[in-house]
Amino acid sequence: MDLAALLDRIADDVTPEIGRGAVADYIPALAQADPHRFGMAVAEVDGSLHGVGDWRQPFSIQSMSKVFTLALTLAHGDDVWTRVGREPSGNPFNSLVQLENEDGIPRNPFINAGALVVTDELASHGDAAGALLTFLREESGNPGIGVDAEVATSEAGHADRNRALAYFMASYGNIRNPVPDVLAQYVRQCSIAMSCADVARSAVFLARHGLRNDGTRLLGLSAAKRINAVMLTCGTYDAAGEFAYRVGLPGKSGVGGGIVAIVPGRCAVCVWSPGLDARGNSVAGVAALDRFTTLTGWSIF
Ligand code: GLU
Repeated sequence: MDLAALLDRIADDVTPEIGRGAVADYIPALAQADPHRFGMAVAEVDGSLHGVGDWRQPFSIQSMSKVFTLALTLAHGDDVWTRVGREPSGNPFNSLVQLENEDGIPRNPFINAGALVVTDELASHGDAAGALLTFLREESGNPGIGVDAEVATSEAGHADRNRALAYFMASYGNIRNPVPDVLAQYVRQCSIAMSCADVARSAVFLARHGLRNDGTRLLGLSAAKRINAVMLTCGTYDAAGEFAYRVGLPGKSGVGGGIVAIVPGRCAVCVWSPGLDARGNSVAGVAALDRFTTLTGWSIF
């Protein structure tokens, strides 16, 4: 398959979708993103890389970081699964409502509450944000990946909801490090800036069943399978059913407009366009992934 030509075709096909939707503005720095940007990259398991549009342009990865912190945490073992569930929440990503009924155990690792627990667990093994940056730089081959200081400051100044989630879980003993430290690490991970090329290369270990780009193993087959499964059921906010229906791949979106999707055994795909639909997923991004699986036949179903 000529993936470079395919990506060109997809970019043409989704042109009417680019610029649709609304840029996230609850973190003020994200509101400056240009909704007319669009990029898409595919990293294949053999190391080849293809892209179209703004695929080399760094953007705020936001919740896509949650895939990588979960993977790094599971590389230390399965303990985190005693602290976080694996069910879709059916509620917005920053919802508090289910936590009280479920004794401070978040529904899954991709809503904010669950991601805070994962970051807390990773922090118990050392510097969570530092370990994440090291991993992303090594995997992508881009040593320049870093935290966007402006986004981090903006996000830290508007983190009351996440702070409330963390303190509430701490009241159940499900945040173990000091809440301000966990929150600071979480804000840093969300504020990392990467391009579609960087993200696709960093995520292709999930298509390779846990094997990193250098051939070493980050995760066992089961852990990689489980991350993909949770991405499929919980990775795209309260629209995971719709995403599975249209795209048919494990995927994780972020409010910066990125979506990373995995085709097990073949490739990782990252698409970016900042205009979001009402559920928080990139409008052009979902459309592009929909075209991708339709044209390639590479959905998991
Ligand atoms: N940093 C964002 C938050 O915690 C991430 C949200 C997202 O991308 O889903 O609100």
